[in-house]
Amino acid sequence: MSKVRVRFAPSPTGYLHVGGARTALYNWLFARHENGDFILRIEDTDAERSTDESTTTILEALRWLGLDWDEGPEVGGPAGPYRQADRLKLYHDFAQRLLDEGKAYYCVCTPDELEARRKAALAAGTSPKYDGRCRRRGNDVATTGGRGAAVRLLVGEEGSIEIADLVHGPIRFETGDLDDFILLRSDGMPTYNFAVVVDDVLMSITHVIRGDDHISNTPRQIVLYEALGLPIPQFAHIPMILGPDRARLSKRHGATSVLAYQQMGFLPEAVVNYLARLGWSYGDQEIFTRDELVQYFSLEKVGKTPAVFDPVKLEWLNGQYIKRTAPDRLTALLKPFWEAAGVSRDELAGQDEDRLQRVAGLFQERARTLTELASSSRFVFEGTIERDRAAALKVLTVEAKARVRTLLAEIEALPSFTAAALESLFRTKATALNLKLVDLAQPFRVALSGKTVSPPIFPIMELMGWDAVRRRVEEALEEEG
Ligand code: GLU
Repeated sequence: MSKVRVRFAPSPTGYLHVGGARTALYNWLFARHENGDFILRIEDTDAERSTDESTTTILEALRWLGLDWDEGPEVGGPAGPYRQADRLKLYHDFAQRLLDEGKAYYCVCTPDELEARRKAALAAGTSPKYDGRCRRRGNDVATTGGRGAAVRLLVGEEGSIEIADLVHGPIRFETGDLDDFILLRSDGMPTYNFAVVVDDVLMSITHVIRGDDHISNTPRQIVLYEALGLPIPQFAHIPMILGPDRARLSKRHGATSVLAYQQMGFLPEAVVNYLARLGWSYGDQEIFTRDELVQYFSLEKVGKTPAVFDPVKLEWLNGQYIKRTAPDRLTALLKPFWEAAGVSRDELAGQDEDRLQRVAGLFQERARTLTELASSSRFVFEGTIERDRAAALKVLTVEAKARVRTLLAEIEALPSFTAAALESLFRTKATALNLKLVDLAQPFRVALSGKTVSPPIFPIMELMGWDAVRRRVEEALEEEG
């Protein structure tokens, strides 16, 4: 069998959304699993809707997810991607070949004429498809009278088209339901179906893996392969992604842009893992390394029914990945999030790496996103903090404040300001006062962090250092209770 070659073919008319990213991922996983090639092709023939900015953000999102593509038109530079706008001559050559063979013809019907005839057909209760009026004009360009002419494929009326879809199984279409669809528009631009087939042929694509919103295009593409007398690739149409209300996933369900997840503090490996499992399974396993995904991925295990996007599960998975992230990488990832949470750039730059890693290490257990991790650990750094007023009123009572004052004096007298020394002091004190450790620790937690929940407070105090702890606690003591 020839080498597996697949492609991801986004139209650069917006950002890379979750559905597109999953299509790209399944193509990438399939290619890597099969030791094949993964081609990236930008489908930018719709000049009005395509923008370079979209192409840039789509590439950025793919890079962020680690979906590297093979090959491309550039020699010596980074691979690809291919861009359809650079390939117009190829589409014209293929159209010419079909014209020369009498399998395509020039059409000079104007949009207004087509619309009027379509309406008339509907009113008469007949099929609104193109009526073939220009068929007799054939491939003789002279008959177009110099008017801008489109090129249409001559599609037969008889027979049926069957595909053995690798996800859905056999799907059958009636050829008679198709019309003589346009290959080249009168402005010379190829239509989607035509450009896709020409490129899939020229790029030797063996498997077309795409969203099942394209199923209705597939019979048109197959008649084109047949007209060209070329082998037809295999198709795998992946079911849609739905929102929790089972409507097609859209902005109203929350963020759908992949890079928005980056900005919200998700790790690319968590997003990849989540998207992989969104419509594909491998037993009950939920967490996969990238290598495992490549090793286990198969199209047979892609479900036939739409998958429901579950943001809560994605957050859970992200939390699992944050827990497993090595401190040096986590810290590097966190810096922009700390900055966004209000830690100044100067302060971050002045921190030694080891201290930052210890902060990240203390908070990584509970955080579901980097945003959450940064905002929950923000208080460890300099600057004022927002204290939860209800928590302060409840925990920093007059009585508690008096105890905090005494403890501050005792902390100052400690020979070393370490988590172990602090814990031992607080324990001894609690026993002496017949209190629980938490009764003494909680006022410090609220004073330092402004909240009632944080990771263990003694290592945090050690990290903050005595001066910062004293300053922050005294500030809390002065606040009105
Ligand atoms: N440009 C098409 C899209 O973005 C690609 C369809 C295909 O994969 O054939 O939906």
